[in-house]
Amino acid sequence: MIVGNGALGLFLADELMERGMGSVVVVGPGHRETGASQAAGAMLGCFGETTTESLRTDASRTRFELGVAAHDRWPAVLTKLEEFSRTGRPLQSAPDTHVVLNSIGAELDTVNFKAMLDALDQYGKPWEEVDPHEIPGFNPRLDTRSLRAVHLPTEGAVDARGVLAALEARLHDAGAVLVDQSVRRLVSSDDVVTGVELDDGHLIEAGTVVVAAGVHSESLVRTVSEDIDLIPMFPGLGFAMMARRTGGDPFRSVVRTPNRGFACGLHVVPQGGGLEYYGATNRLVDSISGVTWMADVRFLAQYSMQQLDERAAGHEVVQWLAGNRPVTLDGFPMIGWLPPSGLYLMTGTYRDGFHCAPLLAEHVANELQGKPGTIDPMFTPTREPVVTRTIEWSISEYVEHNLAAWFETGAEAAPQMTTTQIAEYYRTRCVQAYDQLGIDYALGPDILWYAQGSLLGARRIRRYLRSHRGGSETRARSVDTGSGDAQ
Ligand SMILES: Cc1cc2nc3c(=O)[nH]c(=O)nc-3n(C[C@H](O)[C@H](O)[C@H](O)COP(=O)(O)OP(=O)(O)OC[C@H]3O[C@@H](n4cnc5c(N)ncnc54)[C@H](O)[C@@H]3O)c2cc1C
Repeated sequence: MIVGNGALGLFLADELMERGMGSVVVVGPGHRETGASQAAGAMLGCFGETTTESLRTDASRTRFELGVAAHDRWPAVLTKLEEFSRTGRPLQSAPDTHVVLNSIGAELDTVNFKAMLDALDQYGKPWEEVDPHEIPGFNPRLDTRSLRAVHLPTEGAVDARGVLAALEARLHDAGAVLVDQSVRRLVSSDDVVTGVELDDGHLIEAGTVVVAAGVHSESLVRTVSEDIDLIPMFPGLGFAMMARRTGGDPFRSVVRTPNRGFACGLHVVPQGGGLEYYGATNRLVDSISGVTWMADVRFLAQYSMQQLDERAAGHEVVQWLAGNRPVTLDGFPMIGWLPPSGLYLMTGTYRDGFHCAPLLAEHVANELQGKPGTIDPMFTPTREPVVTRTIEWSISEYVEHNLAAWFETGAEAAPQMTTTQIAEYYRTRCVQAYDQLGIDYALGPDILWYAQGSLLGARRIRRYLRSHRGGSETRARSVDTGSGDAQ
């Protein structure tokens, strides 16, 4: 039994059916509200997502290489799914990507752009510098025009909603059971998980239960035991818009900025049929929801018009998409068996889970069959949080992300104030945040931003880290002496 009908759950079900692993049941509400997969731009991007962090430590390199390996799976995935597609358009909505470096962000864009080119060269992947004027559809306002652009000929995107529907059709065809319901709780007996209870009270028995319910996974797992020592997970609420183009040249490739300012970069993904997906915001929040913040609507609409295509102002928004990315404390996925026998967890994929889903499905299917897994065992859900940075490094990263957001949002300081002074302000705030948190585990910029703005979040992070490594009183020392290198 698989609990959760997002990309991870459905790709796993498909893999299990293909392997002839008996009866597979997937439980999940058809509307998928608050789920990440239904809101995803589904860029199949690993190099477009590169940041200075991607290859800096062994752990982040291992994570990065999941994306590289996942990429190779997609041509075969699309071939097998295409015949089940009902959209009337190819499931691959864009074959390639242009990454643009414009001046509205800050230094973060430049260093991430460079990190991407270095990574492409290291892995021997094709790329070509192009004249930004030559990118079909790309028509930013002059004050945010692009300084450089590269073409990634093998990184495109798929139609997320079309792929989910095609997977469901293929599963029906193969005889899998899809239950349009939610699971209220997991059921166990003598420390063995034996099935689930649905919201309507029905029980379904199962020999093995895989929880792949995205950001809902943690609370579901807790229904069987409060004592499972999971890495904390937070909802990364994201907003995107599906718009019908009303004039001008359409985009024919994904066009995006590098990852920046706590988020995944501004991007447009052509969908076919005159539709374009504009995305995406990212805001870590206390509780899962499907709402959209007005600030995020402004952000996305204004920056799409400024930085991607000024004619987008006249486009017709046909759908608002909101979903919650499953974001773990250390930023790494949670994949593996849990202590009650018969329970497996598969989540925590943050911003590239759609892309990685076919690869993860192969790994999990192997583990369910008792075969060796295909990915590194470091992603086990009950691990100690992975350490990839020092406190000093974390503070610098936080400052860089805030500066990027400062300039992109057009924030203004007194005219005589220098960038160094703004950076110093963020640095001071960050040092204060660490002092208040009283932790010596170095957080990523997005988690730190969240912990700083949410009492609930800060408490949860502090409580967890104090019961693990990372909550000791040695933090001050690591601020003073941190070299910036990963530990
Ligand atoms: C705006 C946005 C843009 C993104 N863009 C990209 C991108 O370009 N490329 C990329 O690779 N990734 C992208 N992502 C990230 C990606 O969507 C996620 O990493 C991935 O989809 C997670 O898949 P999942 O199946 O684990 O979770 P989800 O998609 O959240 O699926 C979980 C499912 O479980 C169901 N569920 C919840 N509770 C229960 C319950 N109690 N019982 C039964 N079912 C339940 C939900 O309805 C949901 O359908 C984006 C995410 C967002 C929000």
